[in-house]
Amino acid sequence: MDFNGKTALVTGGSRGIGRAVALGLAALGANVVVNYVRGADAAEEVVAKIKQLNGQAKAVQADVSDHGQAAKLVEDVVTEFGAIDVLINNAGITRDGLILRMSEEDWHKVINTNLSGAFNCTQAAAKKMIKQRKGSMVNISSVVGLIGNAGQSNYAAAKAGLIGLTKSVARELSARNVRVNALAPGFIMTDMTENLNEDIKSSIIDRVPLGRLGTAEEIANAVIWLASDEASYITGQVLVADGGLAM
Ligand code: NAD
Repeated sequence: MDFNGKTALVTGGSRGIGRAVALGLAALGANVVVNYVRGADAAEEVVAKIKQLNGQAKAVQADVSDHGQAAKLVEDVVTEFGAIDVLINNAGITRDGLILRMSEEDWHKVINTNLSGAFNCTQAAAKKMIKQRKGSMVNISSVVGLIGNAGQSNYAAAKAGLIGLTKSVARELSARNVRVNALAPGFIMTDMTENLNEDIKSSIIDRVPLGRLGTAEEIANAVIWLASDEASYITGQVLVADGGLAM
């Protein structure tokens, strides 16, 4: 895989899966914009690591759930590096709760970040990629968007929504040589899953045929492949990377 001369935007690229994707893309030659909403230090650490490897990177603060901030983020990418070839819609949050107890605020917060955030960045990037007549987007969905999860109706709805967004935008942009795919991870060891108690973790592991949680790097490998020219005939697809959980 070769990303030399290409520019990638990774939303929520300061830690976890986004960080692994940003580092992996940079190692393959991409210029990378590491977006973050809070915690500039972590984003700057990713940028410093990329620069140590002679890559080019920049950290840009923006809340992707804000339509204007997302549009400005994409403008900043093009101003800094001249193009946007790859968009990884990775930013995401959880606000778990059973349906009877879920607050309206927690519902909207998760939909606004995980689904509308991807819409905001996709729309802004699509305008650029259509003009360039090339580009590739990967939306980080979740296996939970395919099979559901008790206590995560907001998150599962957003992640299922991302799949509909992926397929619709793929149909709209194919004629302009822009591919759009989704990656659905299973349970991955990041800050997002760190707070799950040991009982829940072991009950998840019991259901995973490969018998363990995944790593951010394992997800990044699949995301980067989907984004790369090696996957040039693949669009509108959902690649599941979950250790076999949902098969
Ligand atoms: P994480 O909490 O470690 O990282 C999430 C990133 O998103 C952080 O960098 C955070 O700053 C950023 N972010 C949150 N809200 C934002 C906003 N409004 N604007 C910009 N950035 C924002 O989580 P992670 O586990 O690395 O998750 C990354 C993606 O993978 C998420 O979309 C998540 O839903 C998805 N995912 C994770 C798992 C898992 O088990 N960890 C499983 C399936 C899917």
